[in-house]
Amino acid sequence: MFWWRNEVSPGVSVAFTDADAGNLALHVGDNPAEVMARRVLLNRAAGLAADQFQYMDQVHGNTVEFIDANGPGPTADAMVSAAASRVAAQPLAVMVADCVPVVFVGSGAGNEPVIAVAHAGRPGVASAIVPATVEEMRSRGAVGIRAWLGPSICGSCYEVPEQLQADVAARVPATRSTTSWGTPALDLPAGVRAQLAALDVPVEYSGECTLENDSLFSYRRNSRTGRFAGLVWTHD
Ligand SMILES: [Zn+2]
Repeated sequence: MFWWRNEVSPGVSVAFTDADAGNLALHVGDNPAEVMARRVLLNRAAGLAADQFQYMDQVHGNTVEFIDANGPGPTADAMVSAAASRVAAQPLAVMVADCVPVVFVGSGAGNEPVIAVAHAGRPGVASAIVPATVEEMRSRGAVGIRAWLGPSICGSCYEVPEQLQADVAARVPATRSTTSWGTPALDLPAGVRAQLAALDVPVEYSGECTLENDSLFSYRRNSRTGRFAGLVWTHD
């Protein structure tokens, strides 16, 4: 079910699912009833009620939405939530298959958790969705923000045309990379780590390569693949 899972501070957990958790996305041509059944199992595995994780309609943009209650998925590529008096933070999910799933945890003014997820694909890295997420968290009073990067395609596998590499590297120089076979590539997790370092946000975990691990979904390996999820939630 989980590729990686950790209680990162008391009552706050971060996880990334694996292929055994199955496809969690409704937009990839899978049977919707089976997707929803897998989401129920995932909630239960996290110790939550059946329908708690909030997903979003991801569009490779740089919109960050603040979420205070479970509802229809917003059209966005990042979400932030925070605990308020007697109301827990909304459990959050981001779906990926090669893009970088980024999960954040910080503390609000009253030491309550401020949590977030972001979908950092090539357009999102170039348009700074990760810095925008950190800014939104800080605007909500969050301090001590930490980040976890889940599995994504690595800089030795993600081959792109030379002009595309130049366009992205002009904005985020750390993304410039070369494939293991010597052609132009992009290292998206390196780009995200550089963006976070510039904001003094430590990265506590950085996942392995989706293309190189059959127990993860990779769009580059199979364009009809499912999506796995990055998750953050609070609990007793
Ligand atoms: Zn790789």
